[in-house]
Amino acid sequence: MSLLEEIESGATPDRLRRTAAAEQTSIEQLRAKIIAGSAVIPWARGNELAQPCAIGEGLKVKVNANIGTSNDLCRLEREMDKLRACLDAGADAVMDLSTGGDLRAIRTAIRAACPVSLGSVPIYEVLSDLIREKRSPREMTAAAMLAAIRLHAEDGVDFMTVHCGVTRRTVEILRNDRRLTGVVSRGGSALANWIAATGQENPYYEEFDELLAICREYDITLSLGDGLRPGCLADAGDHAQMEELYTLGELVLRCREAGVQVMVEGPGHVPLQDVEAQVRMQKVACHNAPFYVLGPLVTDIAPGYDHIVGAIGGALAARAGADFLCYLTPAEHLRLPDTADAHEGVIASRIAAHAADIARGLPNARDWDDAISKARKARDWETQLDLAIDPQSARRRRSQGLPADTSVCSMCSELCALKGEGGL
Ligand code: SF4
Repeated sequence: MSLLEEIESGATPDRLRRTAAAEQTSIEQLRAKIIAGSAVIPWARGNELAQPCAIGEGLKVKVNANIGTSNDLCRLEREMDKLRACLDAGADAVMDLSTGGDLRAIRTAIRAACPVSLGSVPIYEVLSDLIREKRSPREMTAAAMLAAIRLHAEDGVDFMTVHCGVTRRTVEILRNDRRLTGVVSRGGSALANWIAATGQENPYYEEFDELLAICREYDITLSLGDGLRPGCLADAGDHAQMEELYTLGELVLRCREAGVQVMVEGPGHVPLQDVEAQVRMQKVACHNAPFYVLGPLVTDIAPGYDHIVGAIGGALAARAGADFLCYLTPAEHLRLPDTADAHEGVIASRIAAHAADIARGLPNARDWDDAISKARKARDWETQLDLAIDPQSARRRRSQGLPADTSVCSMCSELCALKGEGGL
């Protein structure tokens, strides 16, 4: 039985018990969410997760950090450093998006060192193999695509992004509805080009039952990828994006029938005023499945600062119902992130997630804010710095401008409004 089926049967598997404890919720409350499909526990059978989590309705908003090599920057130790940086910064989940080098060796090393839920994108395995053999991505085969799913499952990932919603129909729509930036998802682009070149249907859509059988066997949570997510504000909410979304909604129901937990990935780039509407539309179209958003980026003008742009969109999206934020780093659109970028990205997304937790009315979500505010009012610097979301950064900045009177800071010095009777 899969975890979902066990939970539905009334049993209390250890994975449910431990995740409920980690979420500080009752087993029965979490059970109800998992059965309804409004939350998932991405935790594959046989894995030992020291820090499990659940993702979905009524739970704290979670943050995912992407790591992984590319063909140009391919050093395992670099990715292991990034993994540690992401975990130290508080990532709830990590995805290995490696496309360069020995992907299996990299994935296995990351799995062994990763105490949180680990995700992957199996089609990268297929593409990477073809590139190494100097063959075209258009030579992908259905057998290789499904074999990659099984390989990643065997290697112990907990969740997988699979771009099942890029179909012959959506490719036809794309042809007639020209976008400013086309298809910006790596997996989505490879599949769209393959469909256009071969005229065949996406194997991940056509062979969805076989895909589900593998996911059920290994207890993988499916993350239905948004292969046609908009890559700029101009393309947000277009016909192809919406067509894919409704296809994913149909597949959500098939996942649940097959005993496979499922979440759905969302846009990309969305104007600020449309974020809330897009999240609500996704929740309706996808039967309240947990929503995993990539940003969204609310403007296209800020390369170098896209972790901030993504956090603005992420906070709004999570307030409207998104449950899982994929981080963006300052390196987005520019290069493969380094360790410092990964740290900045996780912190920015955690700020967005926490702000949304408060807005979503999660019990006790504001306690942290109140505690730091009390310390600030008392000018209890040690407590304030300890409670900061990034204590190292806060300490470094304070120490770089320490005034003679260390009971205040160098912003206002002797005019400190909090000193003496300050603030009444
Ligand atoms: S000096 Fe100014 S900024 Fe610093 S703690 Fe006092 S009021 Fe706040």
